Amino acid sequence: MRLESPMRIFVEIMSEKIVIAIDGYSSCGKSTLAKDLARELNYIYIDSGAMYRAVTLYVLQKEIDVNDHEAVVAELPNIQIECIYNQEEDKMETLLNGKNVDEQIRSPWVSQNVSEVSIIKEVRAFLVEQQQRIGAEKGIAMDGRDIGTVVFKDAELKIFLTADIETRARRRYEEVQANGVAMSYEEVKHNLSHRDRIDSSREESPLFKADDALLFDNSILSRQEQLRLVLNMAKRRIEEAQKRTVKN
Ligand code: C5P
Repeated sequence: MRLESPMRIFVEIMSEKIVIAIDGYSSCGKSTLAKDLARELNYIYIDSGAMYRAVTLYVLQKEIDVNDHEAVVAELPNIQIECIYNQEEDKMETLLNGKNVDEQIRSPWVSQNVSEVSIIKEVRAFLVEQQQRIGAEKGIAMDGRDIGTVVFKDAELKIFLTADIETRARRRYEEVQANGVAMSYEEVKHNLSHRDRIDSSREESPLFKADDALLFDNSILSRQEQLRLVLNMAKRRIEEAQKRTVKN
């Protein structure tokens, strides 16, 4: 049914959606923020890191050397990744060729190899294409390393999160402890620094802050404070997008 103005305009305003891109170093709380925003705005939440982790898991399970780029790329047609929402448990799940791999992709084995797989140009093109497809309708909060610089260059709201390394290592260590993963604090910290170094210096889509991204150091911000600040900005950006729609 085609509604007449002004009712049609009103419905369009209410349904205006934006893209929220969240980038930053490892274990800065990007996923927590993206998840909280998506819940508040009734948006889709996508953890793009989970997709890189799923490709890495597949490669490792096949006993392929992650530094053998040709062998990794040859496997891409055999890899199917789905990000689905589990309504019962209110969480996103990552499926690798139809199988839930949420636990396996968080293992030290995957964490220690994922940045090596993520430098491969073809792997990035393979996943970026899927990420752009998922976000084509907007109404999405996605976190990663290249979301505001490559995947959604035109995102209405871009956030670049950072926190000092000790804070990040402590948070990540508490998380791995809670999940019963055998890793010492020093190992966790070393893995974060290792991934930060590769992610920021790689040739293909390195991690950096987009010029139009807002920088947040959340070392001293609580989860609630951070959410309140970013949610206010998101609402402002939604209003701006609504105004543009009405004008056009
Ligand atoms: O976000 P998470 O720490 O789970 O990401 C794991 C790894 O995946 C990162 O260290 C990085 O190497 C890679 N990654 C990436 N681009 C993204 C998301 C993650 O290269 N957009």
